[in-house]
Parts: sequence; structure tokens; C-alpha cells
Amino acid sequence: MALSVLSAASEAVPLVKTGGLADVAGALPAAVAAQGVEMTTFLPGYPAVAKAMGRKRVVHKWDSLLGHKARLLSGRIGDHKLLVFDCPAFFARDGGPYSDSKGQDWADNWHRFAAFGRAAADIASGKVKGRRFDLVHAHDWQAAMAIAYLKLASDAPVLPSVMTIHNMAFQGYYDAAIFPRLGLPQSAWSVDGVESYGGVGFLKAGMQLADIITTVSPSYAAEIRQPEFGMGLEGLVALRGERVRGILNGIDRAVWNPETDEAIAAKYSANSLNKRKANKRAIEKAFGLEKGDGPVFTVVSRLTWQKGMDVLVEVLDHLAGIGGRLALLGSGDKAIEAALHEAAARHPGRIAIRIGYDEALSHQSQAGADAILVPSRFEPCGLTQLYGLAYGCVPVVARTGGLADTVIDANPAALAQGVATGVQFDGVHYHALRSAIDRTVALYAQAEKWREIQRNGMKSDSSWNASGRAYADLYRELTGKAA
Ligand code: ADP
Repeated sequence: MALSVLSAASEAVPLVKTGGLADVAGALPAAVAAQGVEMTTFLPGYPAVAKAMGRKRVVHKWDSLLGHKARLLSGRIGDHKLLVFDCPAFFARDGGPYSDSKGQDWADNWHRFAAFGRAAADIASGKVKGRRFDLVHAHDWQAAMAIAYLKLASDAPVLPSVMTIHNMAFQGYYDAAIFPRLGLPQSAWSVDGVESYGGVGFLKAGMQLADIITTVSPSYAAEIRQPEFGMGLEGLVALRGERVRGILNGIDRAVWNPETDEAIAAKYSANSLNKRKANKRAIEKAFGLEKGDGPVFTVVSRLTWQKGMDVLVEVLDHLAGIGGRLALLGSGDKAIEAALHEAAARHPGRIAIRIGYDEALSHQSQAGADAILVPSRFEPCGLTQLYGLAYGCVPVVARTGGLADTVIDANPAALAQGVATGVQFDGVHYHALRSAIDRTVALYAQAEKWREIQRNGMKSDSSWNASGRAYADLYRELTGKAA
């Protein structure tokens, strides 16, 4: 029988997405299937998930799971198996997965995701008839408690577990007062269990108890040993050092491929880059930019401090002043949104912004812009620079985390060897970003060189092949089972 993995995540494309986690959780089943691993994805039953599921079967019922009635639904997500935690008291709500329609976090998030973890542990430990798993893979703090319940409150033999950190900034840290309501034994209240700085740490618990911790790039795996990136958990990362690995995310080529992308005006490949022009015209129109052959930058991002968007705002006058244009798609911090609106008003036709979330426009932006700016202060892996590489939209990135690992800076040595794929800069501040933009504009003016950088990026392999193999190897190592 194939090695069977339960992958617990709070979001997965195409059903529910707020960020990169969804892209990864959605792509992983196919990536490891190619290696002979059968992965079942376990998701909370948000209204959108229940609706998109189509045919479903009830395969288990809980009379009370941390206080509420729940059911387990079985269905499919594309070609792969899906289990959904149908607990209306926690998940049948309008709004986002973690917050209401005003962006306010749900006050009972600890309860919702503890219950989700408890359910995952029940499934993994064989409580659901006909379902048998060899390993549990939990993503981020929302699924981390699966490992805690499995290790600390299960009477079944404990399965091997993997805890993947997609972003250390989100830890699921709660007041100690919730501890008695988690249904864990008193012994779990310890630094070896769920206790963290006097409260309950969901991600911390998963990291403490998992057999292996992974994060989504080798550089980030090293960075989180430092306070600046570890955000309070650097000590635990160092303590578990041997068990912390970095596996880069891939991109789903079925979704992100300019040769087959139905969302863009003109399909193209590395050998037909001239066709990109139609896509450039299309985004000029979509964003209301003036027409022209000068460089168009794009940004597709959460508008937050992590993403360096405050620094981006500072350089916009310069960017417009040297003949650049910007098409920005994103949403987030209200102060940043307001500053972007002001910049757009100062530079009509040159700086254009679209506040909101728009999947099709994100594809069109990668296909039509010349370069994508990713000035993140920290970036566990980052996906938009990988999409940029695949689309010949040259990534201009801060040298951190996965950005450092996936983009080859166009320095003189890389240019001489013909291997450059983008532009990197050190330190997220005005002067560093400004000079990276200057460097990009200068490269863009050298048409031959620019084409080579675009082609190098498009030919670099950002697919899931290598990462799917790495995860499958890890599962085999932990289970002692050949896939
Ligand atoms: P993070 O998960 O930290 O937000 P990533 O780069 O890993 O950052 O992933 C972000 C994902 O969300 C990418 O698929 C990106 O294209 C998408 N995205 C971000 N903002 C928007 C937006 N406003 N509209 C459409 N897609 C967006």
C-alpha cells in the first residue's frame, strides 16, 4: 500500500486562499503523488469549501468536539482525496477564514483551530473507520495542535509528524486561561508541551512535538535561529536544530504557465517574448497607465510591513521620476493603502493601484509587467517572485529567505556567465530599493541583456518536481516505509 499522509491545513487552492500557504497545500498532493505518496488534504468546512466540494459523504460524527457537534465529510479536490471538518458552530460564517468581513480576527480562533487540530488527531489515530494514515503533516499554527493532540492526548500509537512553518510571524499565541478548555492532560502545561512564555503557543507546540520541522526555504530555515526572524521561538529552533529543514516551495505549472494561461491576453513562451507586448498593453489599460515602451513594474502583495510596502511608498516619486511606471495590486494596511492612493494621485498614468484581491489580474500583471518588486523584510519562501521568473517578469527582490534562494542577482559575474535571473538588494530601506530600481531600469535599457535575464528565469525550474521529491523522501525517512 502507498505511503499515506494526512495533510492538515487551514487553506488550500482552489477552495480557499488568503496567501502562499493555500498555493502550497493545494499543490502538495500532486507533487508527492508523482513520488508514490497518497496525500489526503484536511480542511475546515468554511462555507466556500462546503459549496465547492460537490459530492460529499459523511464519514464520521462527533457529538461534542471541544464543545460542539461536528461531522467529517469526504470528497475530492481535483484528483486528490479531501476530508472536511464540518463544524457549523466554528466555520459556517461569512467573512474570511480567520477574520470577519471587517478584517477583525474571530475572538474564538483558538477554539476553532484547536478543534480542527483535535479532529485531525482523531482521524490520524484511526478513529475514523476505513481511514489509515502513516504520517501527519501539519501546516502553520492553525493545524499545529493536531500534533499536540496526537502526542499528548491520544491513546493510539503515535504517528510520525511533520510541522511546516510557512510564516513564523503568525504563531497562534493565546492566554493561559484557554488551557483548561483545550481538553489536554495537565501534563501538557509545560515547556515540553503547549506552554510558551506563560501562554499557550499553537505553533510552538507543533514545533516542540513534531518529529521534523520544515520551513519553506533553506535560507529562512537558517534565519529563524536569530531573534529578528524567530520572533521569540528562535531558542526552540536552535534547540531542535538537527530537526529543522528547509524545502523550497514550487509553483503549480498547471496554474502558472504563460504558454497555457487562459487569464492573459496573449500566451507566450521564452521563445516568443515579443508576444508579451500585448499583455503589457492589456495591463496598461486595466490599470489606467499611460501607454509606452518604458519599464512597467508590478507589485502583487499583501500591503504590510513584512512586505516592505512602507518603503515602496517612499520610492514611488523616484520611480515615476526616472520614467518608470507601476501597476500595483494588493490590499492590507490602511495607512499604506492611503499613501499609495496619494502617490497615484501625484503621478496619474504612471503609478496605478488596485486595492483588492483579484486572481486573474495577478496573472495578467505577471504577464504584462517587465519586473516585479518584492522588497520583503522577511520572506519564508515567497511565490510572486517565482511566478515572475516563470512569466519573464524579472524579480527585483530583497536578499532574504526564499527570495535569496530563488533569484540570481544580475551582478557582473552572473551577467558574464549568462546566469542572472533578477535583481537582489540588501536591506529594506529607501536607498537600497531606489538603487535596485535604478539598476533594473539600466538593465531594461539594454534589450539583449534584459531578454537573456527574462529567458534565464523562464527556463529555471521552479516546478514542484524537486520539492515533491524532498517531501516524499522525508516521509519515507520518518515512516521507514517505501512509497
Ligand atoms: P504570503 O503568503 O506571505 O502573502 P506569498 O508570496 O508566499 O506571500 O504568496 C502570496 C500569494 O497570494 C501569491 O499567490 C500571490 O499571487 C497572491 N496574492 C497576493 N495578493 C494578491 C492580490 N491582491 N490579488 C491576487 N493575488 C494576490
